[in-house]
Amino acid sequence: MSANENPRNVPTVLVERMVARLRDLPFNRYPDPLANTLRDDIANAYGLERTNVLVGNGGDELLFDIALAWGGPGRTLLNFPPTFSVYAANARLTHTTVESIDRLPDFTLNEEAILERVAKGKVQCIMITSPNNPTGQCARLEFIEQLLNATDALVVVDEAYGEFAGQTVLPLLEAHQNLLILKTFSKAYALAGVRLGYVLAHASVINELIKVRQPYSVDAVSQAFGEVVFENRALFESGIEEIISERARVFEVLTCDDAFAKVEAFPSDANWILMRVPQAHEAWDYLYSQGVLVRDFSSAPLLGGCLRVTIGTPAENDRFLRELKVFLGKVTS
Ligand SMILES: *Cc1c(COP(=O)(O)O)cnc(C)c1O
Repeated sequence: MSANENPRNVPTVLVERMVARLRDLPFNRYPDPLANTLRDDIANAYGLERTNVLVGNGGDELLFDIALAWGGPGRTLLNFPPTFSVYAANARLTHTTVESIDRLPDFTLNEEAILERVAKGKVQCIMITSPNNPTGQCARLEFIEQLLNATDALVVVDEAYGEFAGQTVLPLLEAHQNLLILKTFSKAYALAGVRLGYVLAHASVINELIKVRQPYSVDAVSQAFGEVVFENRALFESGIEEIISERARVFEVLTCDDAFAKVEAFPSDANWILMRVPQAHEAWDYLYSQGVLVRDFSSAPLLGGCLRVTIGTPAENDRFLRELKVFLGKVTS
């Protein structure tokens, strides 16, 4: 329960179709460099053109491509910690300057400070994670629209967990050339092991990414598997709904059950819950010793005392709650 993966594997009927696709693959040939069949599937689903879509070897590769194309010496990335650590890591690797504007104590964006900073200019790229990992909540759509109007910088909205959120910036894409939306097959679509992500943006943005990307990063096997999963994505809906309802159930227990009175759980639009726990590191150790692996953020900046638990199956969630309750019962004072 530590990496925000889908607790359920790809449905068996799709695994069978994936295996069938493997039998017909020309393994001796290079793959289509741009994965155009999958690109078209994705474009059609969003009412976009092929030129508005780019597929990558996981969202992480696309984030690196964004750093290559919009970062570099003398360029600045605006980042809003606590957030996904990959953005700052990519900036360091590309010698991009990072300017951070910390989130407020409730982990919402410091909107006023962000707008003040972009008014000064000289920013090439802005990262907004919505829902934000690891804190859980979406950014306000009205604010993102305001920001897009206030800057020429590329505004990346990382919607890796958008399927759990019931909100997307997609309606803003048509009117905003500087918006890039990042999505992945790794979370809602249970393909973390395959490595597929995609971006949606204006063709001018996609063209810049094509200049820096590795031509064959998305192999033929991943393309075929991605096509099967994307074309049948309706089969994942019930699993997504289960995660959303389990998230509500776990949150309710953590916030209303007296046994968890010492826990401060933060509301989440994603497939995990961040919580502040007394003696968090000891809590992590205890959970681990009982076979429950969560993510320990307790020594990360701005996240003191926090653990993040990925929503699992109902049985996994029950086990997590049971073991955390046992730990809390041993905490004195
Ligand atoms: C998981 C994740 C991604 C992308 O993951 P991939 O497996 O590389 O597709 C992107 N952004 C955030 C915030 C994530 O948590």
